[in-house]
Amino acid sequence: MSSTTQPWCGKDFKPRVFKKHPPTVCYDKPAAAQVNKSHYDDLRYQAIMGDVVESLIVPKRTARTWTMQKGDLCRVTVCEGSQVGDMNFWNLENTKERFYSGKTRQLHSTHLKVYDRLWSCLPYLRPMATFVFDTLSNYGVDEDGGSLHDVVGTRCDDYTYKLIAGKDRVGSCHSSLTKAVVEERGMSEEDVHDVWNIFMCTGFTNDTQQYFCKPSPAQKGDFIEFIADMNLLVALSACPQGDVSVAVGKEVPDEICHPLKVEVFRKK
Ligand SMILES: [Zn+2]
Repeated sequence: MSSTTQPWCGKDFKPRVFKKHPPTVCYDKPAAAQVNKSHYDDLRYQAIMGDVVESLIVPKRTARTWTMQKGDLCRVTVCEGSQVGDMNFWNLENTKERFYSGKTRQLHSTHLKVYDRLWSCLPYLRPMATFVFDTLSNYGVDEDGGSLHDVVGTRCDDYTYKLIAGKDRVGSCHSSLTKAVVEERGMSEEDVHDVWNIFMCTGFTNDTQQYFCKPSPAQKGDFIEFIADMNLLVALSACPQGDVSVAVGKEVPDEICHPLKVEVFRKK
């Protein structure tokens, strides 16, 4: 192809040919991101054989908070029907230290698997919790690259909804999490941060690399479990998108929204 001078480029313009390279995983997984699996299996067993120190229902389209001591195990169960949840985590003694979804994504992957950890923000960068059990683990990665429990999505919010739908609304994970931390913990909207999207099936389209979602494959009785690696304040929103079978911006029927059950187990 002959080159032409493009005045707005200021130099000869010809299509560039780029050298090809195989992909290299950016981050070597640090030792702290690789847990001793049998140790965590033991911790899980001891906690489940211990006492239930917290049990609560997060009603549909709302959020709740609870605390955990280091070593406690939390089980979040799809207790009535398919439903996704958005989770936030803070160090109980210092809420400036909070979950860092972006670095968790880089250290592990876009979608968390059992034995992956949830990391805190800079300058702390410590494991806050370790994912230890998932009844949906064999979903794996589907034919479209979709997978569960992502640390990609930020949380649904009414500000973005207004950009898309042109209407005001109060009814999102962001507004639910805000209400819960304000009313239950005396915190503020600024304390709500990017989430761990549990039970949600998401990926990126091959052609345009856009974030996509599919209806959650979670059914009544499915659950995930994680162990606290520090004393935690935790918040969970039962997403007003329900099972995510309706696209963001469209009206969500009440029948596709359900509560989530939370239990905290502590070793005797
Ligand atoms: Zn949501």
